[in-house]
Amino acid sequence: MKRRHLLRAAPALLAGASALAQADTESPQQPVRFAPSRSATLAPVRASADRLIDIEVCTRPFRPQGPRIEAQQLHGKHVVHHYGHGGSGWSLSWGSARVALPLILADKPRRIAVIGCGAIGLTTARVAQDAGLKVRIYCKERPPEVASSRATGLWTPDSRICAAEHATPAFRQRWEWMARSGFRTYQSLLGIAGEPVQWRDGYVLWNDDQPGSEPPGEPDYPDLYTQIPDLRPRPVNLQPHEHPFKVQHARRITQMVFNLASYQRLLLEDFLRNGGEIVHQEFANARELARLPERTIVNCTGYGARALFGDETLVPVRGQTARLIPQPEVDYMVFWRGHNLSMVPRSDGLLVQSQGEHDFGNADASIDRAQSVAAVERLAELFG
Ligand SMILES: Cc1cc2nc3c(=O)[nH]c(=O)nc-3n(C[C@H](O)[C@H](O)[C@H](O)COP(=O)(O)OP(=O)(O)OC[C@H]3O[C@@H](n4cnc5c(N)ncnc54)[C@H](O)[C@@H]3O)c2cc1C
Repeated sequence: MKRRHLLRAAPALLAGASALAQADTESPQQPVRFAPSRSATLAPVRASADRLIDIEVCTRPFRPQGPRIEAQQLHGKHVVHHYGHGGSGWSLSWGSARVALPLILADKPRRIAVIGCGAIGLTTARVAQDAGLKVRIYCKERPPEVASSRATGLWTPDSRICAAEHATPAFRQRWEWMARSGFRTYQSLLGIAGEPVQWRDGYVLWNDDQPGSEPPGEPDYPDLYTQIPDLRPRPVNLQPHEHPFKVQHARRITQMVFNLASYQRLLLEDFLRNGGEIVHQEFANARELARLPERTIVNCTGYGARALFGDETLVPVRGQTARLIPQPEVDYMVFWRGHNLSMVPRSDGLLVQSQGEHDFGNADASIDRAQSVAAVERLAELFG
């Protein structure tokens, strides 16, 4: 199975859908096909470049062997490494933090230092607090400046999480545990003020002359989603009259979305309310950690671990996202195969993303406005 990042993952969610739809139509007991009548009511996206309010670039911290979650004695400290979550950092953060927790507790600390205030640092800090520890975060950036703040915000626990050859049975077992553990936590965050987490419908679109293209240079990714079929609503193939988009084919999927602005604020507030402290500090090298008063240190520096700890296995995967002015009436996602284009409605705007051809291994953080303008113009084609 090839890569499982966002635009591949969404269509891949739909495996088996056409067989299911066919079974429904052929069954004498169920002669009536399910038709999504609400398709006619989908509000159009006002997709024009003058409505762009923000363009951001960030780097996914990909490790072919998967996230590094292990303890090391270093410069007189008990260091627990916890980084390298590729395109799945938000999705796996709770489960991954719970895998890291026993390594932290093994040092029998009462207070710990967490280096990093992104998805992984914040969530690790919260899990440690819930285990009774006093936590101080040290970081050079905090939300909304961290890379995590620039993510898409979809529950995609298998997105660039490891290369296929490293998906051993042990890895798969741990991944599934992390995915299920995080999924449960996210269900407990539904329906609270600010809607940090929501379920949204989405439409995977394609034309016959647009086979799903793969940006070059990426490794093979394992098919992990097949291990958690019970955590995904069944996709539905739609007939042309059942959707408003100007393409030949459409499937409807349903997926969990994180409104990162309110979700990060929730995490920060919970962290501070539980006695957490945040110290602004940049570490030039790992030796500087020896000066911290805490003996137990959790390294949640994401791609920063490459420079700080010399981890050359970390591969940068560039991603550029753009936001259009929020349209609360747009409550559905779009994934256009072949164009590697997506639109995700969040409370802070409609997030438009198109996968670049040279993103893998690319740490260039400069903004390419033309790329986002082209993505918005392409999106506009769907609405005539
Ligand atoms: C375009 C894009 C879309 C994405 N979409 C999704 C998605 O939909 N769903 C999903 O689950 N994941 C997604 N991801 C992946 C996700 O964003 C990452 O896996 C996640 O952000 C990693 O979090 P982190 O906390 O490890 O790293 P970061 O967010 O980079 O945080 C690192 C922290 O460490 C600090 N730090 C680093 N070096 C130092 C140093 N030397 N001294 C002090 N502090 C330091 C930083 O300041 C920061 O606070 C996406 C990524 C990209 C690029």
